[in-house]
Amino acid sequence: MNQQMSDQWKNILKDIKKELVPTSYLAVRESKIHAIQSDTMVISVVSEFVRNKIMDAFLPVFLGAIQKQFPEIQNLDFVVEEPVEKNSTLDTEYVPTHERSSYFNNPESVDSLPLNPRYTFENFIVGSNNQLAYAGCKSITSDLGKVYNPLFLYGGVGLGKTHLLQAIAHECNESGNKNIVYITSEQFLNQVVHSIQVNTVDKFRENIRRVDYLIIDDIQFLVGKERTQEELFHTFNALYDQKKQIAISSDRPQNELKGIQERLISRFSMGLTVDIYPPDYETRLAILRNKDKAEQYDLPDEVLDFIASQQFNNIRQLEGSLIRVASYSSMQNIQNVTVDFAKETLKNFLPLSYKKFTPEEIKVIVADFYNTKPQILESKRRSKDVAVPRQVAIYLIREMTNYSLPVIGRYFGGRDHSTIIHSYEKIKSEMKVDPKLKNEVEEIIKKLQYTS
Ligand code: ADP
Ligand code: MG
Repeated sequence: MNQQMSDQWKNILKDIKKELVPTSYLAVRESKIHAIQSDTMVISVVSEFVRNKIMDAFLPVFLGAIQKQFPEIQNLDFVVEEPVEKNSTLDTEYVPTHERSSYFNNPESVDSLPLNPRYTFENFIVGSNNQLAYAGCKSITSDLGKVYNPLFLYGGVGLGKTHLLQAIAHECNESGNKNIVYITSEQFLNQVVHSIQVNTVDKFRENIRRVDYLIIDDIQFLVGKERTQEELFHTFNALYDQKKQIAISSDRPQNELKGIQERLISRFSMGLTVDIYPPDYETRLAILRNKDKAEQYDLPDEVLDFIASQQFNNIRQLEGSLIRVASYSSMQNIQNVTVDFAKETLKNFLPLSYKKFTPEEIKVIVADFYNTKPQILESKRRSKDVAVPRQVAIYLIREMTNYSLPVIGRYFGGRDHSTIIHSYEKIKSEMKVDPKLKNEVEEIIKKLQYTS
């Protein structure tokens, strides 16, 4: 652990201390960061006992405190490193939790993964990008299995799918003692594999079919996993027939889940499908304001505004930027946080606005959306049915690439830069007053996302 990390870890322990009774805290306070591997933090603990204790009872507390310092962390794994220096290389090797976690000590039971206490409906900001998804998830918390079954929620990374699915589980937990299971499809797969290995498939089936509410996160993980899909298919049918509620999330729509059996896809499509797409400026700002207030950062409006104006299409990164600015300013004891400070602090973290798209790609998608051809957008035709798509394409290219105005002009039959800027401004201002146009532009952005 470097100095900065060890300071962050101290803060994490402080937060954990507030949540646990003193004797429990004593047991866990010797834990340390062992490694960070993308969104997984590996924590070293002093004994198997402590590991099990954390896994069984304190995961949400740990995860909550850790995410305040490391917002990108989504999973925790543990290694046991006994303080005495014996054979230390042997048992400190990192093995992913799912290969040894407590869930597998008892393969027959189907346990819900721990829920993040923050992921509730109350903490979810509703904007035009997620309003349908929110309403859909909310609606299946009452009248289980009757309104929409299954619920299929899809959207890109970091847009709130897990948050919404866990909010369903929180709400159902609160309102009754239905048997709710929230798992990832990876967890489902691991349980299937394990029950095959130890010959308890029947028991596993019996148990999972007793669940009243099955929530499976990140179904795309099952692409190509035939045996698990088979098991899921039967589970699905059994639950569905008993009118038990099923909710599923995916990072892409059903028809793009190549490698998932047709019959499963058709079942996923039997109920309600809702999607989430990247938040617009207003929603980004609302999310930041909410977080700023909840965490009592008290950053000035113009700083929040600056962060919101960056084109984050991943809310995890949006929140991460806010946390970074807040924690850096507090570490350096800066009272008046300025936009310049935020810019400097975030200089390597701001999104390089959709830099992966080329003008050609954008033109093709826009033309396709409006049932026309890229060549027609380049032409001199000025009728409205061509002018609007052309302006939309120009608007998106200006927003999503780093090309200069004259270069963009060249992609449209050599139009000069004043025409380009005019088109851009026109769409930008009309989107504010014309919801249909705004919708179209957002649809196209979604299409671009899913084809990239
Ligand atoms: P996904 O599962 O789609 O990758 P998550 O549900 O993990 O995304 O969300 C990433 C982060 O963004 C979480 O911290 C979540 O609380 C936050 N988040 C996403 N959408 C919203 C929202 N509408 N309001 C508040 N927080 C949100
Ligand atoms: Mg998720």
